[in-house]
Amino acid sequence: MKQIITKITCDVCKGEMSPIHKDEKTHITVVFTTEQTEGRSIKHYLSNELIDLCNHCQQKVIEGHMIFAEGAMGHNTYWFKHWKNPDPAQLGLKKESEG
Ligand SMILES: [Zn+2]
Repeated sequence: MKQIITKITCDVCKGEMSPIHKDEKTHITVVFTTEQTEGRSIKHYLSNELIDLCNHCQQKVIEGHMIFAEGAMGHNTYWFKHWKNPDPAQLGLKKESEG
């Protein structure tokens, strides 16, 4: 039989998320560093975004880390400051099942 499995990855760390998160994006306030039409750098501002956020990154937000964003036309990149392109292994993302 053929099984189609939807893989969901966290918009921030790109780590794979458990299927439990399917269709459950998180509304979150991020710090945008570009305007969203052409992606030019401007003065940072807050923006409400709907993103896939894994438990680990969600916990980081709860601990007080802001998510930063850049991009245009809906193609956005998200990261924690000082954590751009993090190594998922370093972030303790080996297993997503706990918590
Ligand atoms: Zn994440």
